[in-house]
Formats: sequence, structure tokens, C-alpha cells
Amino acid sequence: MKEVKIDLNESLKEYFGFSSFKGLQKQAIESIIEGNNTFVVMPTGGGKSLIYQLPALVKEGTAIVVSPLIALMKNQVDAMRGISTEHGVAHVLNSSLNKTEVNKVLSDIENGVTKLLYVAPESLTKEEYVDFLKKQKISFIAIDEAHCISEWGHDFRPEYRNLRNIIKQIGDLPIIGLTATATEKVQEDILKNLGISDARTFKASFNRPNLFYEVRPKTNDVEKDIIRFVRNYKGKSGVIYCLSRKKVEDIAQVLQVNGIKSIPYHAGLDAKTRAKHQDMFLMEDVDVVVATIAFGMGIDKPDVRFVIHHDIPKSLESYYQETGRAGRDGGEGYCLAYYAYKDIEKLEKFLAGKPVAEQEIGNALLQEVVAYAETSMSRRKFLLHYFGEEFDEVNGEGADMDDNVRNPKKKIEAKNDVKLLLEVVKKTNQEYKSKEIVNTLIGKENALLTSHNTHKQEFFGAGKDKSDKHWMALIRQVLVADLLFKEIEQYGVLKINEKGLEFIENPVSFLMTEDHVYEEGDDNNIITSNKGGGATDEALMAMLKDLRKKVGKQKGVPPYAV
Ligand code: ADP
Ligand code: MG
Repeated sequence: MKEVKIDLNESLKEYFGFSSFKGLQKQAIESIIEGNNTFVVMPTGGGKSLIYQLPALVKEGTAIVVSPLIALMKNQVDAMRGISTEHGVAHVLNSSLNKTEVNKVLSDIENGVTKLLYVAPESLTKEEYVDFLKKQKISFIAIDEAHCISEWGHDFRPEYRNLRNIIKQIGDLPIIGLTATATEKVQEDILKNLGISDARTFKASFNRPNLFYEVRPKTNDVEKDIIRFVRNYKGKSGVIYCLSRKKVEDIAQVLQVNGIKSIPYHAGLDAKTRAKHQDMFLMEDVDVVVATIAFGMGIDKPDVRFVIHHDIPKSLESYYQETGRAGRDGGEGYCLAYYAYKDIEKLEKFLAGKPVAEQEIGNALLQEVVAYAETSMSRRKFLLHYFGEEFDEVNGEGADMDDNVRNPKKKIEAKNDVKLLLEVVKKTNQEYKSKEIVNTLIGKENALLTSHNTHKQEFFGAGKDKSDKHWMALIRQVLVADLLFKEIEQYGVLKINEKGLEFIENPVSFLMTEDHVYEEGDDNNIITSNKGGGATDEALMAMLKDLRKKVGKQKGVPPYAV
């Protein structure tokens, strides 16, 4: 391939106004300019866009960029036009264009003016466009947010699966995959599905040393706890993620009532309201956005000082992405997640209606979330390990920035309890779910076990010196340790593993971790919406009612819709 030698630093300065490359940008750009299939894995904010934008500007022809969101494309195209009008045009091709606009886009490509063509995967699949693009000079094709190709990613889009086929039809082009998802499984899927196992790979560290990670047990006082927390950040920006739209509305109201400037954001609000709320947050008319996961992709407020998860998300990847919106300027970023196992069960129930394969993936991802929430090790080490990265928990950057390191959890020897638990599961024929096993252990009346099982006598109340909470926590830790597993086909029934059988024969030390203990703190002037708990305020309830009326019943909205 004939390429004029280009001074990349000069191009960087000229087109983008930056004086130096970030991380592995330069190497990745060189790989693309040389015409290699290239795979880039960098955290959000790492500067991935520039990695395909710069080569697109300096190479002959048009680069095609596949991107999943119209809003993301718009942003990028506007930015490109701002910096490079005289060097060529960036265009979007998607369903939002009318006929005249489409024709303008196509003629600009034909005339060689367009350096970057952003397309949604659905548009690229259209036969007329494929036929057209076949005949054009295309420099390369970049797949942004490439994790959308994998069912193991947090944003699976079936249309992404078709890309390889389409690309082949358009021509024999270098393919560039870019993602902020670092799990091995997703990376494998991307390379395989795009057919680029030979790609040169550029992978940056996912460590965010300025983020502090903490997980607190979620109790009925979670609202109070959040209010106390947010009050310490007066006038600073933060995001609170909730699973359901209703919870978003509730928490936003509760914060308002307690004097914290906040607004809700979720996909149940119309586009105008969403845009307005997003602007209010960016312009700092409000401090806190309470949101579902609908709030995120493409949000770039550098000084978000905290991200709270009122509900634990469905995967560690989502967690990493969402917490990653804190501290993008390198300043403080406090990531606080509330965790209750019953939230995990809610997510499991949500999965239960899905095809078995999807359930299996979903449950495996959830187990990782449970393990993260309950771990006693460095949370940073745990997260980075999940992303396939080793972290030195003593000398690594940000090593002391989490609750487990600052305030180590207590561990207790639970060898005998584990043995007892495994025996109960085994001798009751591996037919019961956690709750039934726990009820037997603590000697709580339980129809299933009392009526059918001869081993009931032997085990009924055998663990009553400990609480049901203790046994539930132990079951989860034993699941994480792979001594037990949950049968998905029989929704949640506990089964024993080889390792578990071995443990019964030869029990070894099993250190169980206990939750941190938190100080209650000062409840002065906190109003919550909890029934019975705290200072329930009639005025608040009336406000909530009013608000719901305004928002409407939201018919047909599934409980966890964004
Ligand atoms: P990603 O897609 O990896 O999340 P972006 O491409 O959106 O990241 O870039 C994040 C920010 O970093 C943008 O504001 C971008 O302008 C900026 N940026 C990218 N490269 C550089 C650079 N070499 N020097 C300074 N800023 C950069
Ligand atoms: Mg990006």
C-alpha cells in the first residue's frame, strides 16, 4: 500500500489541537494507517474516537464508523465538523434523514469529500447502501462500542451480529474494533464475530486510581443513608442509579424534599424532558441526577464527584461503566453501591422469563456481582481481575481506595457450618432452594421439608444457634467458592459440586467474611418515604402521589425498563 509518510504529531495538533497522544493512541493509529485489522480496548474516556478519526482524515477515501446510538453519532459528527471543515466532511447515515439529506450524504462520498461516515448497524444492512458503498473508495471500517456484538456484553445488539457479512459484501477492508469492555469472553466474541483473530490489539489498563469503591448493606434506611451521604457533597455533582423508573422518581423527590437539588432521568420521560434534565445537570442547575441506566452513554461531565447505586446492577461491567462516570477529570470520585441479596433475587426473577441460554449468561454475570459485593479482598483488585488485569494491592495505584482495604472485614472460621450445609443439601436429595434449606437449619416450620423428607428430623434446627442471615450469607459464599451451584433449569434449586462432595469427606478451613458495621449517623431533618420507618411526611406522600399522576401509570412498562 502506498502511503505518504505522515507526521502524526503534526496531524494531531493540526486537526484536533492536542499536543500529545494519550496512552496507546499513537501505536493504534499507526496500526490502522498501515492497513491492519486493529482491536482497541480502552476504558471510557480513554480517547478511542481519535484513534479512527485521525487515520480517517489522513487516509484516502471514506472511513465507515458503525456506532449504536444516533445521539453518539451526532455528537461526534458535530465535533468533527467543528475541527476539520477544510479537511473533509463527516456525515451520519441513519433513519433520521430524509431523502434529500441522504442524497447529499451519498454524493459527498462519491465526490470524495466525506472522510468519516457514521452509520447505525441497521442502516448499513440496507441493500441499497451496501450496493452503493461497494463502489466507493472506503479506507477502513471501524466498529465502535464493539462489545454490542457479544451476548456477554452489557449492551448486546443482535444487529451487530450481521456486520461481518455486510463488511464482506462492501469489500476486503481493514476492520477496527473498539470497546471499553475488557472481559476475556467479550473480547473473544468480538474477534471471532468480526473475523479478525489476526488483529493487532491495543489494550489499556482499566484501573481508575482516583475512584473510591464502597459497598454497603442495603437496609430500610437506605434513603436516609443516601441523604446523609449527598449532604456532604453540597453543590457538587453526582449520579444516583436505580433499577426502576418508579424508584428514580421516588428518590429524586425525596432528595428535593430534603433540600438537595435533583432531577429524575429515565426512558419513560419524553425526549424533550430528558434533554432538558440532562442540560440542567451539565449546566449545574441541579446537583444530582437520579437515573436508570438510560442515563449514561455519551454523558461527559468531567467533575461528577460521586456515583451511587441504590440498586446493584446486573453485571460488573455495567457497574464499572456506570461508576466510570465519576471523577473523569482525575479528581475525587466516590462510588457507593447498596447491596441486598434480595435485589439479586429480583434480577434473577427478571431473567427467569428469558430463554435458557440468556438465563445462564445472566446468572453467571449476577454471581460475579454477588462475589464482588461480598468479597473481603481489595475491590479494585477484584474488579481488575474480572477484566483480566493483575493488580498489585500493596503498591498499585489507588491501592487503598476502597472500604475493604481501609476497614478490613472480619472473618470467621465456618468449616463446620459449611460441612453441615453441604450435608443437608446432599441428604435432602438436592431438591430445595436456599430459603428452604435455611428454614430447615434454623428449625423454622417448613411445609416442604417437614412433610416429605426423612432427613428432616436429623437436620431440623441443626443450625439454630446461628441466624437465617448467617446461613443465607454462607450459602452465597459457598456458591462463590464453587462447592454448591444453582440449577437454572429448576430455577434456583441448590446442587452440590464435586468440590462440595470432597469437602464433606475432607473438610478444610473456610473463612467466612462478615459485613462491615456502619454507624447510623445523625438523622436530623431527614424526611424519607419509608412507611413506618423514619419521619414519614404526609406532605411528601402527597407530592409523590401528585408526581405519579403527572408521570402517568406508564402502562406496559416492565419493572426494570430503562
Ligand atoms: P472514549 O471513546 O474512549 O470513551 P473519547 O474518544 O470520547 O473516549 O475521548 C474522551 C475525551 O478525551 C474527549 O474529550 C477527547 O477530546 C479527549 N482526548 C482524546 N485524545 C486526546 C489527546 N490526545 N489529548 C487530549 N485529549 C484527548
Ligand atoms: Mg467512545
